[in-house]
Amino acid sequence: MKHAPALASLIEALHALPGVGPKSAQRMAFRLLQEQREDARTLSRALEHALGAVTRCERCRMLAEGPLCMLCASAGRDEAQLCVVESPADVIAVENSGSYRGRYFVLMGHLSPLDGIGPEELGLPQLLCLLEGGEVREVILATNSTVEGEATAHFIGELVRARGIAASRI
Ligand code: ZN
Repeated sequence: MKHAPALASLIEALHALPGVGPKSAQRMAFRLLQEQREDARTLSRALEHALGAVTRCERCRMLAEGPLCMLCASAGRDEAQLCVVESPADVIAVENSGSYRGRYFVLMGHLSPLDGIGPEELGLPQLLCLLEGGEVREVILATNSTVEGEATAHFIGELVRARGIAASRI
């Protein structure tokens, strides 16, 4: 049986989310339209608001509300250390470890030539500009331990060391 158009497009939109299969998407849509209509309105407003308010930090590419993210805007971070990670979730993970006081750079992915993701897409020109600033003394390469993550760390490590800056892998 086919769904009516509005319901079908809601199910399709939910199905596009990571980890949501077609059955889950249908179950979620039914819930949102029946028992959880008020939650659905809250979700819709929050989503609309966040899409307008949240952009990318001009400095580190982290999600931000305003030109700089909260970490780049905060005084008292160590300018000499820069931790390079793949995603905003990685920033949260390192922050929660509680032992790092430096700054970040968020690639929003890893090198993947077959998918057309090269140095430009990962913001590497922006990273190099940051390094030219002269404050960074050490770059910590905290990309994922996948093949792509390792290759990305290696590539960035070479660029960093070529500028006389220390690079380490964690
Ligand atoms: Zn930032």
